[in-house]
Amino acid sequence: MKYDYLIVGAGLSGAVFAERMTSIGKKCLVIDKRNHVAGNIYTENVDGIDVHKYGAHIFHTSNETVWNYVNKFTKFLPYIHSPLANYRGEIYNLPFNMNTFVKMWGDISEAEVKSKIAEQIKESGIKEVTNLEEQAITLVGSDIYRKLIKEYTEKQWGRPCTELPSFIIKRLPVRYTFDNNYFNDSYQGIPEDNYTTMVENMLKGVEVLLNTDYFTFINNTELKFDKVVYSGTIDRFFDYEFGELEYRSLDFVTKKIDTEYFQTASVVNYTGHDVDYTRIIEHKHFKPTSTENTIVSYEYSKTWNKGDEEYYPVNNEENSERFKKYSELAEKRKDVIFVGRLGLYEYLDMDKVIGRTLSAIDELF
Ligand code: FAD
Ligand code: UDP
Repeated sequence: MKYDYLIVGAGLSGAVFAERMTSIGKKCLVIDKRNHVAGNIYTENVDGIDVHKYGAHIFHTSNETVWNYVNKFTKFLPYIHSPLANYRGEIYNLPFNMNTFVKMWGDISEAEVKSKIAEQIKESGIKEVTNLEEQAITLVGSDIYRKLIKEYTEKQWGRPCTELPSFIIKRLPVRYTFDNNYFNDSYQGIPEDNYTTMVENMLKGVEVLLNTDYFTFINNTELKFDKVVYSGTIDRFFDYEFGELEYRSLDFVTKKIDTEYFQTASVVNYTGHDVDYTRIIEHKHFKPTSTENTIVSYEYSKTWNKGDEEYYPVNNEENSERFKKYSELAEKRKDVIFVGRLGLYEYLDMDKVIGRTLSAIDELF
């Protein structure tokens, strides 16, 4: 039996690759070590509520091609993500906008906010931005950094903000309007059915083997493949030849609660060290549901150890250097295409993962 592609990972990148190639008549086999498709965007319906098993996922993009592409597999319900921050009991709106500034400093105009931030940057003595701490203070000043960024980031990444790259905080908008939309993108929504169904729709007509780890499978199969498309961790693919890349992992503690709603937003970030978890997700906020109970997940960030799920690449200098060596090896493997957040070792959102996978396909032709 001969296939054009063995696709490792039934997450978004693997599913997009399989869908595009199957649509032009290529024969694909998708394998995943987990017992379900959809990778980290998997949702499971529990008592009428779609539980985002691997963390809250909101689809957002400004890429028209990507938006049109995903809309072939699901309709999206309009949804504007507006998480809250809880700093030791004080509640703030996110992302950083006039609602946040007014809560922090009282009634204050846009011009006064700007001059307050400028004053705080001056006081901090920052001349050049070289890390996340300096970037954060430069964007929003030291008060907001202290209450809403410093401790949250330390919990999330397990290291001081001075040892993290500045791009991580630049993901968040800073606005001088009263607008709590967490994203600046043109399109935003939640699948009308759910992400799992969206991925199942992509994989219609594609052979999928679950509970199948690539490294065991490849040594025991008689099947033949022209190319492998790999969306797992790149360091594992090369048997850690240059050592392990670093990842952050997560634990989710999920509880059913006997109340209609537990909190006033889908996501509340706990930005202080007073609690160990980083955020609480209340799943039913993503889609209108009329259940009497609710389900919440407490998210805890932790150092990745072998056997844990890899959630976030830690793109600091040391890991970037190590990744460069792996990508040089990858360049030489013309029989393997590395895709996705783990294959590319990049902090990519869903739309970027789709965009990059579509580009990888374009490059093939
Ligand atoms: P994955 O979903 O990780 O899929 C890879 C698949 O490969 C997995 O199913 C895995 O089991 C399988 N695999 C790995 N190794 C092997 C192997 N050896 N053999 C067989 N199978 C293997 N993005 C957004 O756009 N919006 C959000 O709101 C958002 N929220 C997020 C929240 C959290 C907590 C996290 C961690 C990420 C979030 N993202 C969000 C990013 C989003 O999850 C990713 O962009 C997307 O899931 C990446 O898809 P992928 O296919 O690259 O990887
Ligand atoms: N962040 C923060 N406080 C918050 C929210 C985010 O300091 O209340 C910082 C933190 O460093 C985080 C980064 O901004 O890692 C990016 O946040 P985002 O919500 O985009 O992270 P993700 O949902 O990908 O975990």
